[in-house]
Amino acid sequence: MPKAGIYIHIPFCTVKCMYCDFYTVADKEDAIPTFFKALIKEIELCKLDTSDWIIDTIFIGGGTPSLTQPDQLEKVIQALKNKFNLSNVTEFTLEANPGEAPAARLKAFHDLGINRLSIGVQSLEPDLLQFLTRNHGPDEVIQTIEIARMTGFENINCDLIFNIPGQSLEIWQRDLMRVLDMGPEHISCYSLTVEEGTKLYQYVNRKEVTMPNEDQSAEFYQCAQTTMQESGFEQYEISNWGKPEKYCQHNIHYWEIDPYLAFGPSAHGYDGVHRFANVRNLDSYIKMLGEGELPRQDIYELSDIDRTNEMIGFGLRIKNGINLNQIPKSYLNMVNESIERNQSKWGDYYILGGNRLKLTPQGFVFADTIAVDLMIPVP
Ligand code: SF4
Repeated sequence: MPKAGIYIHIPFCTVKCMYCDFYTVADKEDAIPTFFKALIKEIELCKLDTSDWIIDTIFIGGGTPSLTQPDQLEKVIQALKNKFNLSNVTEFTLEANPGEAPAARLKAFHDLGINRLSIGVQSLEPDLLQFLTRNHGPDEVIQTIEIARMTGFENINCDLIFNIPGQSLEIWQRDLMRVLDMGPEHISCYSLTVEEGTKLYQYVNRKEVTMPNEDQSAEFYQCAQTTMQESGFEQYEISNWGKPEKYCQHNIHYWEIDPYLAFGPSAHGYDGVHRFANVRNLDSYIKMLGEGELPRQDIYELSDIDRTNEMIGFGLRIKNGINLNQIPKSYLNMVNESIERNQSKWGDYYILGGNRLKLTPQGFVFADTIAVDLMIPVP
């Protein structure tokens, strides 16, 4: 029986951060009640047969789900319970922003069974937070973590960003140390990337902002690897470090290509055969569901070659690497040839053994390039 997860996308934020590429809306509070009706309708309309899945994770992301009223979430959870077997869920995450998760709300979320909080810390440096147009300061971070602990959360993740213009290695390491001192169970470190359609993209294009170069970027990353390792955190994925037993099981579903349900505008799901994506527009999402239609923008069957390439792309991200036994048989020879062909170029950065191909910690720096080189060309 495959293990599986459920993702729910809540798109509301109080501001749109200048670098953010997720589908979010600001200043649309009026639409919140209609959105929740549509979300529940989407859950009710789901026709996927999940009878042989073991659903063990739920992840409510966004957006800023911590802005949601608990009674709205309660109805969503009830709709999920009416439809799916949630008795195996052990990890139930909600994303929260510092300063936007008051104690009464966090307590109510915890009472609903949410047992993991993922906090968008990003930085503890006031100037950098301002540059990123975050609407919180370092004090709100400390306060939100304290409130989370007080209200019963024993599993907390902090998201951090490196590679920010104006960030020095010293500032980055100090941020890491300060966050480690706050005692989270899990830390995710992401490089600031310039995504089309964001304000950051415009600034970089207009040469108003210069991003750190590749070498500086690699130094930030390696600083995170060393600092986290020295603090007893295990790097189990390219951007994720956790204490033992606290790895994010939901994200592991994505990397292991397990099935997962997905609800909400722009949400992506996988039923074990097809990948699907919902419309990336709140009004269209609400309209389609109002007409009794699933809000799909795209759906396609994952072919063997897609699956092979996804296994390479995701597998190289995780510490356990690619399980070569699971590569579709029709492509296994091509993958083995590809590994051999790339041996002289990348052989120092990966380890092949026990039917697994894993990157070394140094190899993680080049994971994307190595994956592209190993992938099978799509005819
Ligand atoms: S708060 Fe998070 S989801 Fe919302 S705009 Fe900022 S980065 Fe994006």
